[in-house]
Amino acid sequence: MTIQTPIETIEADPAPRRATVGVDVGGVMVGGGAPVVVQSMTNTDTADIDSTVAQVAALSRAGSEIVRITVDRDESAAAVPKVRERLERLGMNVPLVGDFHYIGHKLLADHPACAEALAKYRINPGNVGFRDKRDKQFAAIVEMAIRYDKPVRIGVNWGSLDQELLTRLMDANNEQPVPRSARAVTREAIIQSALISAELAEEIGLPKNRIILSAKVSQVQDLIAVYRDLSRRTDHALHLGLTEAGMGSKGIVASAASMGILLQDGIGDTIRVSLTPEPGGDRTREVQVAQELLQTMGFRQFLPVVAACPGCGRTTSTVFQELAEKIQRDIRVNMPVWREKYPGVEALNVAVMGCIVNGPGESKHADIGISLPGTGETPAAPVFVDGKKTVTLRGPSIAEDFQAMVAEYIENRFGRTRAAAE
Ligand code: SF4
Repeated sequence: MTIQTPIETIEADPAPRRATVGVDVGGVMVGGGAPVVVQSMTNTDTADIDSTVAQVAALSRAGSEIVRITVDRDESAAAVPKVRERLERLGMNVPLVGDFHYIGHKLLADHPACAEALAKYRINPGNVGFRDKRDKQFAAIVEMAIRYDKPVRIGVNWGSLDQELLTRLMDANNEQPVPRSARAVTREAIIQSALISAELAEEIGLPKNRIILSAKVSQVQDLIAVYRDLSRRTDHALHLGLTEAGMGSKGIVASAASMGILLQDGIGDTIRVSLTPEPGGDRTREVQVAQELLQTMGFRQFLPVVAACPGCGRTTSTVFQELAEKIQRDIRVNMPVWREKYPGVEALNVAVMGCIVNGPGESKHADIGISLPGTGETPAAPVFVDGKKTVTLRGPSIAEDFQAMVAEYIENRFGRTRAAAE
């Protein structure tokens, strides 16, 4: 058999990030070469100050670097400065973004303390008003942003697309000798809505470094097409998100597939994963998914990675699944403290493997790894530290012993980093 030599080396890296104009959102840089920012949105009634503060705090602790809250009426606008104040008292300075629809211009004018407390205003050009009122009300929000020195996100959403613009483009398309599909024209309308609105905001006096754009749709292929096109036509900072992604694994897969491809293309300065939580579910899941997406693709490091094999017929016990789950959970729970106590700990790699086939090899690649005994193997679990076999664990307390070894490894390696820095 002849193996062809490669014509060129294929690098295992994403395309270079598209150059965008950076926007400062309450101290967090979006675009302009800054790391891709993770953001999220609350689902509490903002007027319910206790619940909103609790959820923003939970999202922030989970790693959301920007949190958006709904500002839909006077009561919620009045609550915003109080939410801000309560967060400050908790020592949380996570920037808050106000999500406005229909009456944003009025709420910002009537509630100056809200306008001041927010770090960014989100405007949806599709529902800022109709006909002559649309431009006036859009301009009023932009003027507020100028007055209060805030950036805006012009967030187009295909569920609330500017119908006048869409109709105009559809009519023009119908007159073409070879009309494009309605789906393609809709994508064009989404892009144009974002670009026209950005141009208008700049004409009013808001500089480009205070404008972020988003153009969200709910279909994966449309999202990829829209953002690829949009990023070719502007250097505004881009917020990525698949709208109405859905629940559970469907929402996670659809978000990761679409945003993963765009990020690989170098597109996107901030991401939000719009998951529908299960009833009573944890809102912070969307932050976890966004972080895992960025980390698995190698863009950022948020927390130690646990590599675990999927298991197969060679390991019929659940010991290794339980251990992998336990280690993963411990890491997530301890991370807020570890982040402070052990600088650099997010770079840690742990491997928990089910049998001798790939166990020792994978464990050697990790910082610390264990190869548990598969079915019929001697009940012994070699542990590898920095690529070298150190001990072989035996007996009923293998899981606890390995957990203790991971904790010791973290203390020895990352505790020293801290000591050296002090
Ligand atoms: S490491 Fe062993 S148990 Fe795990 S998937 Fe591979 S063969 Fe199966």
